Amino acid sequence: MSDACLFCRIVDGDIPATIVYEDDLVVAFEDVNPQAPTHVLVVPRRHIPTINDLGTEDETLAGHLLTTAAAIARERGFDAAGYRTVLNCNAAGGQTVFHIHLHLLGGRNLSWPPG
Ligand code: 5GP
Ligand code: ZN
Repeated sequence: MSDACLFCRIVDGDIPATIVYEDDLVVAFEDVNPQAPTHVLVVPRRHIPTINDLGTEDETLAGHLLTTAAAIARERGFDAAGYRTVLNCNAAGGQTVFHIHLHLLGGRNLSWPPG
């Protein structure tokens, strides 16, 4: 845990967030600035700055980010309609919070390519 990290502080309950799911590995909460009717961030409990910092030992965790997002999409009823998952990495990828987070965006039609 890093005291300076916003998402570590949310995971630890120091900063409030609307948590929608949590287990031993991950916490999922509503994005504060939603870009779709559902915009949930799925984060590992452990502080990992970017996907460049994932090791082979983290493959179960990395996969769990995806299966958690799919479960939330199913629970909210837009799994069949479709949705988007996004992992931004570093500056050119648009990452602004340096604790890995998988964006789950759903509930509207999303255009491609992104900006
Ligand atoms: P990134 O640009 O790093 O991929 O995404 C960071 C996301 O974190 C953004 O979508 C932003 O709205 C969200 N975010 C930033 N600060 C907070 C916060 O304090 N609480 C919550 N719930 N989301 C945040
Ligand atoms: Zn962190």
